[in-house]
Amino acid sequence: MDNLKFINLEPADQSLILDANSVWKRCLTHIKENVTLMTYNTWFLPIRPVSLEDGNLKVQLPNQFFWEWIDEHFSTIVKKTINLVLGESGKLSYIISDEKEQKEEEVVRQSRIVEVAKPVVIESKIPKHETNLNPRYKFDNFIKGEGNQLARAAAGAISDNPGGTSFNPFFVYGGVGLGKTHLIQSIGNTILEKFPDKKVIYLSSDSFTVEFVEAIQSNRVNEFSGFYRNMDVLIIDDIQFLIGKEKTQDLFFHIFNTLHQSRKQIILSSDKPPKELKGLDERLTSRFQWGLSADIQPPELEMRIAILKNKAEDYGMRVSTEILEFIAASITSNIRELEGCLIKLLANASLNSKEITIELAKKTVKEIATDRKINITIDDISKAVCQYLNIAENKIREKTRKKEIVLARQLAMYFSKELTKSSLKTIGLHFGGRDHSTVIHACSSIELMRNNDNYMRDLIDSIRNKIELNYS
Ligand code: ADP
Ligand code: MG
Repeated sequence: MDNLKFINLEPADQSLILDANSVWKRCLTHIKENVTLMTYNTWFLPIRPVSLEDGNLKVQLPNQFFWEWIDEHFSTIVKKTINLVLGESGKLSYIISDEKEQKEEEVVRQSRIVEVAKPVVIESKIPKHETNLNPRYKFDNFIKGEGNQLARAAAGAISDNPGGTSFNPFFVYGGVGLGKTHLIQSIGNTILEKFPDKKVIYLSSDSFTVEFVEAIQSNRVNEFSGFYRNMDVLIIDDIQFLIGKEKTQDLFFHIFNTLHQSRKQIILSSDKPPKELKGLDERLTSRFQWGLSADIQPPELEMRIAILKNKAEDYGMRVSTEILEFIAASITSNIRELEGCLIKLLANASLNSKEITIELAKKTVKEIATDRKINITIDDISKAVCQYLNIAENKIREKTRKKEIVLARQLAMYFSKELTKSSLKTIGLHFGGRDHSTVIHACSSIELMRNNDNYMRDLIDSIRNKIELNYS
């Protein structure tokens, strides 16, 4: 990127540049010289010039992801181009398409300038209140499926009538990357659209704890607690992180009571149902069950395909149905990883200026599996298998011919080979000092069962899901 090629600009030309269109056209000429055609078409052509004021070129992008991508991969080129075309003090700011309809006036009033790569400047909207909500999370782009049906329906009802349904608190739980944050933030965003005067706040239980500690240190606990008691809608994400934090739990308990008594809406998320939140004050876990607890399950195949289609459209990617179906069939554990795969595919294609083909998709899926392998350990696998089959963990290493223990051990060996980079020898050693031929035998037995027995296939797949869910 150091040797950027730039077309010579006649200084006299600059005085002729008057409007956003011609400035952007000129920028494109330079950018085209420095990126591949595919990159140019994918990332730069969809950008629209909007206005030019005092050396600040405002452009419109299809979505936030676009900006992040450009900022990460092409900021040098963009910066140099802007400097070249608009001079050293030239600036670039952007707006997102779906904000286009907003009155320009409002955008200006609510906008702030954030310095990114000097002197390229981006502009982003500040919400009316400090809600911490990400406007990207909406019901519109939340795909419905069997796994999230109840949670999604309840979320809709709450958005129509916050605090007024029996779903209070609304407690959403499920594994990582399944859409809890997306769903609960969508409720917040929708409530604000429908009831602009409601005071809505979203934060993770971690941020809540940090703020609380700061409030203690600066003697502002009353102010802190008063602030949250005054909300109409309190959304706390990942409530499981309050475990072990007794003081914060105690304060939260009082805030919860105040809000609940005055029929204010409380929305919580967690990785487990309330009953299983061991280490959380029982006064809290019992209250969490007063309203509605709804789980989110991993998406089934059709839903995974729908999500991929939707995201591909969002990113402006053209990907064949065959490829989307291949990805959906390969990545089963969670939605974040599905998205990650699509982005990685786009990256692989655009950075190496390759077409998006099924081969490239296969390679990308493999890369993702390798990334995952780095994180999973044999111990994690052993633990997950034993938990799933309800077997004490030490049993798996014992010399026994008990059927269920042999199965657990074989499964654990099989997953260790599939999901980690460990050698057969290392795997054997982990399971009571068995040699590598035992591991090979275990793997082929499991594969045989998987191919011949539907029940076994389901079992194996759900254990794999469980293991992968924890490490993505
Ligand atoms: P969690 O909070 O459960 O770990 P997130 O809400 O962060 O999961 O979701 C992970 C990613 O997957 C996000 O980018 C989110 O937008 C996306 N996602 C999750 N569920 C859905 C869905 N049903 N439809 C579309 N996108 C989804
Ligand atoms: Mg989350």
